[in-house]
This record gives sequence, C-alpha cells and structure tokens, in this order.
Amino acid sequence: MHSPVVVLGGGPGGYAAAFLAADEGLDVTIVEAESRLGGTCLLRGCIPSKALLHLAKVIHEVEELKADWGVEYAGEPSINVDAVRGRKEKVISNLTGGLAQIAKRRNVTVIQARGSFVSSGELKLEGDHESIPEGGSITFDHCILATGSVPAMPPSFDIGSDRVMDSTGALALQDIPESLLVIGGGYIGLEMGTVYASLGSKVTVVELAEGLLPGADRDLVKPLAKRVDAMCEGRVYLNTKVGSISEVDNQVEVTFEGPNKFGHERFDRVLVSVGRRPVTRGLGLENTQVVVNERGFVVCNSQQRTADPKIFAIGDVAGDPMLAHKATHEGRVAAEVIAGKAAEFDKRAIPAVVFTDPEIAWAGLTEEEAKRDGREVSVAVYPWVASGRAQALNITDGLTKWLIDPETNRVLGCGIVGSGAGELIAEAVLAIEMGCEVSDIAETVHAHPTLGETLMNAGEIYFGTATEIY
Ligand code: FAD
Repeated sequence: MHSPVVVLGGGPGGYAAAFLAADEGLDVTIVEAESRLGGTCLLRGCIPSKALLHLAKVIHEVEELKADWGVEYAGEPSINVDAVRGRKEKVISNLTGGLAQIAKRRNVTVIQARGSFVSSGELKLEGDHESIPEGGSITFDHCILATGSVPAMPPSFDIGSDRVMDSTGALALQDIPESLLVIGGGYIGLEMGTVYASLGSKVTVVELAEGLLPGADRDLVKPLAKRVDAMCEGRVYLNTKVGSISEVDNQVEVTFEGPNKFGHERFDRVLVSVGRRPVTRGLGLENTQVVVNERGFVVCNSQQRTADPKIFAIGDVAGDPMLAHKATHEGRVAAEVIAGKAAEFDKRAIPAVVFTDPEIAWAGLTEEEAKRDGREVSVAVYPWVASGRAQALNITDGLTKWLIDPETNRVLGCGIVGSGAGELIAEAVLAIEMGCEVSDIAETVHAHPTLGETLMNAGEIYFGTATEIY
C-alpha cells in the first residue's frame, strides 16, 4: 500500500496533522498502535486528569461553602469510585468517538498497527487488525512522526508492584488509597495529588528540587505551594531524594534522604511522576536519516523537518514543551509545509497551564529567562486581593503579572496564578503574539467585575493609573 502522507501516531499532534493535511487536499493515512485515536492527551493525560480535577474543584468548593458561608449538608460526602471512573471514561469515549467520525468525514485512512521504519520511505506494520494492508507495510512520500512520549520510570522505582503507579496507573483510579506518596512535584504529580487528596487520600509530596514546579515563576508558585502544604497537612518534603522503594506487608516502604526528611515511611500507593520520555526506541530510526539528540528527542527545524528529507517530527517526540497544544500547532505546520506552503513555527508564546487549585499559567518570556539571558524587563504585578471579583469568589491569593520591554513598552510575557488562570492566559498569548504594547491592554475595556480585568489592571499599574480597590 502507498499513501502520499503517513502520520505515525494518532495523538493530538498526529490526528491534527492528518486532518489538516487532508484539508490541504492530500491523501493521508494514520498508523496508530491503539484501538482509538487520541493519544496520551485524550486517553491518559490532559482530558481524564481535567475531568477528575473538576470533581476535586467541586468537592473543594462545597467544603468552602461549609467553612465560609455557613451552608450545612447532612453528613460527609461518600464517593462511588466506579461512578467517578465511569464518568471519566464517558468523557474520553465521547471525544475519541468524535475523532473517529472526523477521520471518516475527511477520508483519512486509519490503520491500527505498530509502525517502524524499514527505510526512509517505508513503514513495517505489526499487529493483527484487519485494517493492516496485505504485505504488512506502507510506503509514503512524506511521513509525520508523532509517536509522543511515555512516563519515565527510573529502574530503582520499577519494583513490579501495582502499588507503584505512573500517571496512567493513577488515572485508572483503581481505588482511593488511604495514603499516597507523590514522587515529583511537577505539574502531573501536583494535579494527580490534588485529585486523590480531594477523594480522601492522605497525600505526601516529595521533590528533589528546593521548590515545587521547578522552572516556574516563584511568584506564581508561592500561593500554590501554600495550598499544597495545607492539602498535605505539611507533608511536602522538598530538597529530598527518594533512596529506595520496596513492597512490605501490602504497603510500599520508601526511604527519604534530605535535610528535613530522613528515614523511611510506608504508603498504600506511590505515584512516580518524575517526567516523560520521548518515544523513539524501536521505531527503526536507524534505517532513516533522522537524528535523535542526547535527551532522546528527534531533532527538527522550525518547519518540523528532520534530517531526513521525507520525515517530519511533531509533538512530544520533537522536544519541549511536552504539551498537547504545542503538538497540534506543530502538526499544522508540518501539514502545511508538506502541502507546499511557507509555514514555520515561531515558539514565542506557547501557554503553559498547571490545573491545580489555584491554577498557574504563563506564556512568553519569564523573569527567570530574562535574568538568565541578561535581558532588562519591567514587571507589573496586580494582586488579586484588590479585585472585586476575586474577593467575591474568595480567591484573593492570586496575582497577574506582565513582563514588559522597558524600551518599547511591548509585552514580552505574562504569568497568572489563581482560579481560571488557564482561561485568562489566552488574552496574554494573543497580546504577545501580536506584539501589543502594554497600553493596548490597559486601555481595552474589560467587563467588570471579572478576573480578566486583572490583566488590564496590571497594565494600568505599569502606568501608575490602576484603580486601587473595587
Ligand atoms: P501522544 O499524545 O503521546 O500520542 C502518541 C501516539 O503515538 C499514541 O497514541 C501512541 O499509541 C502512538 N504510537 C507511539 N508509537 C507508535 C508506533 N510505533 N506505531 C503506532 N503508533 C505509535 N498537555 C497539555 O497541553 N495540557 C494538559 O493539561 C496536559 N495534561 C497532561 C496530564 C497527564 C497526566 C499527562 C500524562 C500528560 C498531559 N499533557 C498535557 C501532555 C500531553 O498529553 C502531551 O503533550 C500530548 O499528548 C502529546 O501529543 P503527541 O501527539 O505528541 O503524542
């Protein structure tokens, strides 16, 4: 079988690339190892985690009603884990079903098989699904490599016990353990820790770095760190290494080595969330000219071209940041370049969102990056304690922050911590992409009272014109 364009991997990078290439009038085939399109994001990442985080948020809000508004409910909530799992699965199947329909409507062929390169122009297809063509291989003019990433599991943590889970295991929600240790205070660990804590687990977080979410703006992390500390009742072990893990008496015994935490503790379950690794092994890349760097990512340029003229790479396999919307956008660029358009990806403003409570979001330049590059920036911060909407919602620990070029007044970056930060950042991304000056934002009418106003207010602060308290 020959297909002018073959996309290897049907995650948000792969299916977007395939659909957009079909829109460009190209004949496209997706080769996906699993029975459903959607990849990590839909099946065991963004979507199921956000469905569960919604539940966590509602539970938290009900608790707030009791604590702050004097609303009483009879008794404690009881959680039906089967129903929670069922609801999460329904969200996934609605979306994956939709993707199958879109593929059909766009005449995109989907082959369920594990693909590997036998040459720069041919993939071997392994599996037993009826969609695999006779001969078990497919040739192509162009291939878009979109094989994504999988959770990293250091060998010393991989003890062959189902009490030690990765993010996929945690999202499967087998039960609600009485105690859960989260190894790694990055966004996946904190999101899943939030879910389990709200369902009733006693959660402990251990992080090797000095603070949670290493790499994120410290002003944004501060309010979240306080809440995580409260959620874990103080069991947040920073600057601490996990020495060994073993299964003892139906529990997992973990040794800690850190200035504030030394010795061992037992937990019912452990979630290892120490990062993800790109999927490049076993793909037969040695039979192509594709180059993989020392971190395992496929090297490609701003048009997503690899060192092999026939092969493009997108998404998690093509480098940081490992985010679904980055994968999708790279998919668009690859599809357009293959269709002969002059597309290119300028990675100036890729938003990053941590869907914890409070949420954290940022886009463009960060203060840390500015410092590292010796770049002078002005910073304008609006604390949410001054926002009428934040007061009404009792989320006053948020803040909105712009990074501004002091010479041109152009906005270079934005960071937000607080409820809905993930939605609010969209305005900032557009502003950065469009090269707005901070006055464009400060002088744009924002509805009152909204959290969106805080973007305008931070802009006003830059000019010393902000209204103090609403
Ligand atoms: P993937 O989604 O990983 O898809 C790759 C596909 O390729 C898979 O379906 C796989 O089966 C297939 N494949 C691999 N090898 C082969 C082969 N040899 N043959 C055939 N098929 C193959 N990102 C966000 O932007 N926002 C979030 O809120 C967010 N939350 C997350 C939460 C969790 C718990 C996790 C784990 C991830 C989260 N992510 C989030 C990251 C996001 O899921 C990834 O960045 C995104 O899925 C990457 O898309 P991709 O298309 O590159 O690869």
